Amino acid sequence: MMEKALLPGLTLPELENYVKALGEPGYRARQISEWLKKGAGFEDMRNLPGSLLDVLRGSAIAQPASILSRQRSRIDGTEKYLFSLQGDHTVEGVLMRYRHGLTLCLSTQVGCRMGCAFCASTLGGKLRDLRAGEMVGMATLINRLCQPERVHNIVLMGSGEPLDNYDEVLRFLNLITSPDGLNIGARRISLSTCGLPEEMRRLAREGLPVTLSVSLHAPNDTVRRFLMPIAHRVSMAQLLSACRDYAQVTRRRVVFEYALIHGVNAAVDQARELARHLAGMLCHVNLIPLNDVPERDLRAATPQEVAGFRQALENAGISATVRREMGADISGACGQLRAQYLKNPVGPMWKETSP
Ligand code: SAH
Repeated sequence: MMEKALLPGLTLPELENYVKALGEPGYRARQISEWLKKGAGFEDMRNLPGSLLDVLRGSAIAQPASILSRQRSRIDGTEKYLFSLQGDHTVEGVLMRYRHGLTLCLSTQVGCRMGCAFCASTLGGKLRDLRAGEMVGMATLINRLCQPERVHNIVLMGSGEPLDNYDEVLRFLNLITSPDGLNIGARRISLSTCGLPEEMRRLAREGLPVTLSVSLHAPNDTVRRFLMPIAHRVSMAQLLSACRDYAQVTRRRVVFEYALIHGVNAAVDQARELARHLAGMLCHVNLIPLNDVPERDLRAATPQEVAGFRQALENAGISATVRREMGADISGACGQLRAQYLKNPVGPMWKETSP
């Protein structure tokens, strides 16, 4: 059987070719595209002829994502979604309410093969890459649900390594920033990577000035290798050189993610060592209090350690902020909800957590 086309993964010209190949006039593509933008399924597309809808149902998918569960934090209104995708796969998404608008965090792979010691997404390895159409589908679905507000910012910080799924992620970025799609400015999109230098250099030259977030998490190669297997292949010197290149080509500051882990990477000396590496670079450090993952024996640094680390960076002239923890009551961190679900699949659930 031929695989069905994922319509949200097509550009408008591609969609035009698609409907023309079905013997339909090209303007149908615009009509379909308007619906796709709204996160709609075929059942919503009432201005299209029934005969066309029948053909489309047989050959294509309008909305590849459906919502399996939705939880809303009583603390800050953060919403955590578990999506169901083709092939019985599940991925997470998180909607955060910031002063500068709604920010949607999306996954880029089912699971992840990068193996970071502190990350729940990687526990079962990578099952498959997400398709661009699936990522667009999740974004339009959430955008539809949060009307009359809308998704203002997107962060690719969910499960998976976006640069390990380069082509589909790039296609997603082109679709989501397009005026034919949700039209979200590249400057309002962040892509988070564990640091693949070749792909970072390639991305810098795509003409899509998204913010690059790099998961550094260590002040040197020894600590980084302990936490992140990728550090055995890519040294910090190689990684930071690709970061400098990204900042230079895009004129955008690189954001470093640094999860503070008690007894591993959170000492003041280590902050000073980190500062020496970053000196003179167009960058910002985002300090993240580690979300404890019970499966791993790593604990968050204390608030005092976090404050001391930030101060030491500031003293050395490196701009740094502590990321506000959101959705703490709903397993906000990557992979946590899916990991719970895989252990205990309870079917559709709509839950508001208690304070
Ligand atoms: N693969 C990409 C994006 C996914 S992870 C990357 O590595 O950047 C998104 C961010 O969450 C990364 O900075 C990751 O290191 C961080 N993260 C993962 N597990 C975490 C945990 N338990 N506590 C705090 N941050 C975590």
